[in-house]
Amino acid sequence: MCAPRIVRIAHDSADFPAVPSRRALSGAAGLAALAAATAPIARAGTGAVVDLTHRVGPNTPMWPGNPPFAMVPVGWHALGGFDQNAIALWEHTGTHVDAPLRRAFGGVGPDTFSARDLVAPLIVIDISAKASFDVDATVTIDDIDAFERIYGRIPPRAFVAMYSGWERRLAHPAAFVNLDVEGTPHAPGFCAEAAEYLVRRRDIAGAGVDTLSLDHAADPDFGAHTAFLGGGRYGVEMVANLGSVPPTGATVVVGVPDHIGGTGGPCRMLALT
Ligand SMILES: [Zn+2]
Repeated sequence: MCAPRIVRIAHDSADFPAVPSRRALSGAAGLAALAAATAPIARAGTGAVVDLTHRVGPNTPMWPGNPPFAMVPVGWHALGGFDQNAIALWEHTGTHVDAPLRRAFGGVGPDTFSARDLVAPLIVIDISAKASFDVDATVTIDDIDAFERIYGRIPPRAFVAMYSGWERRLAHPAAFVNLDVEGTPHAPGFCAEAAEYLVRRRDIAGAGVDTLSLDHAADPDFGAHTAFLGGGRYGVEMVANLGSVPPTGATVVVGVPDHIGGTGGPCRMLALT
């Protein structure tokens, strides 16, 4: 199991005070304190649709080395034609899918995903409390055990998402990427052993994170990527609004791209509560 590692980045405590999510807090006082600062959690069974997608633009934070999104107008209806743009984007931009073939020889691409697995029970494991003081926090097997003690066993072919509260950094893209002085990014993700557990013991359909990587960003081995994608499951990175959906009871719809031979791509993702 991943050992907890605490790495404090210099600007972290100054710009981003610890704010556990409402779900992570217990007690009326904590709930009241956060009521004005957080969106309401859509209750399961109410018919609400929560958009789990971040909009993409030139300021979208990117994994170090990946180029930013670019869009150039190439048509104008004011000139008698149609408005249209040429866009250039890295497949792994914004809220996006990682296909198994990204990490595994012989893995499937987004164009050949089973449609059945793109509509799945949504499970949200909230680690925002520990992520508020540990930028390398991970979802561990202990976290999964604790979740299941409260909410019951994760069903087969579920989509299991980590909620770390990281999106409050989006106003400062550099803080979202969170490089240390040596250029290594730090952000929460899944522990490799937990990813393996979810694939082998819970037979999940896919996994998601609200950060840029399925692994905690400083992990040099990308063990969670290997476990999820190597196990034939897809990932979605930079998922939005996971703090606004219930831990269980919602259904996720993942609108993956379908370009042949792709390794993933931006997706529109919705939660039906
Ligand atoms: Zn990716």
